[in-house]
Amino acid sequence: MPSDVTVVDHPLVQHKLTLMRKKDTSTASFRRLLREIAMLLAYEATRDLALREELIETPLVEMTGAQLEGKKVVLIAILRAGLGILDGMLELMPSARVGHVGMYRDPKTLEPVEYFYKVPSQLEERAVLVCDPMLATGNSAVAAVARIKKSTPGSLRFVCLVACPEGIKTFQSAHPDVPIYTAAIDSHLNDHGYIVPGLGDAGDRLFGTK
Ligand code: URA
Repeated sequence: MPSDVTVVDHPLVQHKLTLMRKKDTSTASFRRLLREIAMLLAYEATRDLALREELIETPLVEMTGAQLEGKKVVLIAILRAGLGILDGMLELMPSARVGHVGMYRDPKTLEPVEYFYKVPSQLEERAVLVCDPMLATGNSAVAAVARIKKSTPGSLRFVCLVACPEGIKTFQSAHPDVPIYTAAIDSHLNDHGYIVPGLGDAGDRLFGTK
């Protein structure tokens, strides 16, 4: 069974994504929009987190409220563009723990090469959200998630902004147990490994490096 794919088609997400796609959108706007969309993606991707009851006092009465159960959620950014998603998610979950996985795409083979790995301890008791804006070839995401699985996380979800059929297929074949959350599934991947229509190089647009 392939993993679930949830397309977050909320009008606010779609509106903001369209602004991000426009080639003339400034770095500042791109960054702000990604942060805003990330909050909305996080909202969907955490919908099934477990709750526990907690007895509290309001100014009026005692009541049984709900609190997130277990240890703090972990957000893992695939460097470097994943950092853009991280910012927004941290606004929604300020006490989340944060990990980083450094992967770059070999420009010739398009294969991922790991250069950095640092994640919080006790991952086995935590829900982990892995973040990378573009699920393109899927190779980096597959490699990052495979690496994270060695730390035996309690649960895993993959969150991106734009996916394509090729990336989804690759990811699902490697990790059928990991649900994907995305704002869009675009048409296809081009010969250079870019998603079409896409939004260009997410890292360059986020950090203004081109
Ligand atoms: N990475 C990007 O930043 N954009 C793409 O379209 C594909 C991979």
